[in-house]
Amino acid sequence: MKYLVTGAAGFIGSATAEKLLAAGHYVIGVDSLNDYYDVSLKHARLARIEHPNFTFEQLDIADREKMAALFETHQFDRVIHLAAQAGVRYSIENPHAYADANLMGHLNVLEGCRQTKVKHLIYASSSSVYGLNAKVPFETSDSVDHPVSLYAATKKSNELMSHSYSHLYDIPTTGLRFFTVYGAWGRPDMAPFIFTDKILKGETIDINNNGDMWRDFTHVDDIVEGVVRIADVIPSRNNNWTVEAGTPASSSAPYAVYNIGHGSPVNLMEFVQCIERTIGIEAKKNFREMQPGDVYQTYADTQDLFKATGYKPQVSLEQGVTELVEWYKAFYQSN
Ligand code: NAD
Repeated sequence: MKYLVTGAAGFIGSATAEKLLAAGHYVIGVDSLNDYYDVSLKHARLARIEHPNFTFEQLDIADREKMAALFETHQFDRVIHLAAQAGVRYSIENPHAYADANLMGHLNVLEGCRQTKVKHLIYASSSSVYGLNAKVPFETSDSVDHPVSLYAATKKSNELMSHSYSHLYDIPTTGLRFFTVYGAWGRPDMAPFIFTDKILKGETIDINNNGDMWRDFTHVDDIVEGVVRIADVIPSRNNNWTVEAGTPASSSAPYAVYNIGHGSPVNLMEFVQCIERTIGIEAKKNFREMQPGDVYQTYADTQDLFKATGYKPQVSLEQGVTELVEWYKAFYQSN
């Protein structure tokens, strides 16, 4: 199979490309290599992928002509669309970056899939679409119409845009709502990396909502396994798909949305303690209020993913944190 992976220099994209290549697929990776965080980490992830069946192209997915040419040239079988302007807090200061990458970029991907009859589009949505007051565990059949950040609004928009393209042009699309992803090669703007970095440097870490928060931390290996398995589940009009409540044009539309989360939320303080134990240093802590755009709890119902793929995330918190800390030390402290 020939895959397009957008966001291939990113945390999840680079790991996904590696997994697809190991399974014998061809992968064309694209990424703008933007400087939202340390660009040298993105280059290092790409260097790690190095494979005869891997081609990388630096490209902005918001660029309409270049995206059309990319799809026309390669005639991809499947597309795994992970490029996005990520982060909840950054969207408060930089709204236009989200409209460009997450809305225009997503539209360009959908158009490419339409023009070249891609067999399956799999794209990243987010647990943030559940907003503030969703009942737990979060189910994909829940109605989610009240995003509390622009980032979440763009992710929900991606699901709606994909639904319309599935319906109008018969393109199978699958949205994956990822839950707080962590692990080796992780994002320097996210809490697991920041905590590890600061604790090792003896710096103070900020604890939001005085530690009273819950996150369904999910290891990147579990995310990637879910993505790759879902890619193999080709929706068709004859399949009995989970179609999000409230939006389906027909119950047989080749459109689906799944949660990929660990399915067991962890208290923020428990997460910090796990890092402290692994490193062997107690963190200096600054307890503070809830931050704008943050939600109190995330908790994935993983039944649908299990039914579709037979997979339930498996990496324990202890295992995942140990791997993150070991990678951090090898990557940042040995240089
Ligand atoms: P990441 O920032 O590491 O990867 C995204 C990549 O996309 C980056 O390398 C970036 O350079 C690239 N990119 C951004 N804008 C682009 C553009 N206009 N054109 C081309 N490339 C562009 O983030 P990640 O954690 O790997 O996330 C991957 C996807 O999963 C994103 O869509 C993100 O919103 C989603 N997601 C991630 C998490 C998480 O916890 N990491 C949770 C929910 C959803």
